[in-house]
Amino acid sequence: MTDCLFCKIIARAIPATPVYEDDRMIVIDDINPQAPMHVLIIPKAHIATLNDLGPEHDALVGEMTRRAAAIARERGFTDRGFRTIFNTNREAGQSVFHIHMHALAGRPLGWPPG
Ligand code: 5GP
Ligand code: ZN
Repeated sequence: MTDCLFCKIIARAIPATPVYEDDRMIVIDDINPQAPMHVLIIPKAHIATLNDLGPEHDALVGEMTRRAAAIARERGFTDRGFRTIFNTNREAGQSVFHIHMHALAGRPLGWPPG
């Protein structure tokens, strides 16, 4: 077991109620939601940041992106819109160093982001 929060959630060393799970990823509601829908799409493989991706991860990231769209569809946000975000390193606000895609929806989301 590493000291990684999301690896612990994936291993259920920390309890979690996934909204989706398969052999490659888990999706959970964010503990501190910033919109009515705020889920985290987390690969089961420990990859610290987007800077650590290789071509072997291309399919995984594609599946994560399609999963975000599928969850937005399930929750009725396909047409209204939703936002997907990876924060990378400190200045972008990354706080958990195991990549995860945020998917947010349900309120107007400003642009440019803060
Ligand atoms: P980051 O800041 O790395 O882009 O995003 C990390 C996200 O993980 C934050 O939005 C934060 O609220 C969320 N988070 C941190 N700890 C937990 C936790 O124990 N459970 C869940 N579900 N989300 C968490
Ligand atoms: Zn991890």
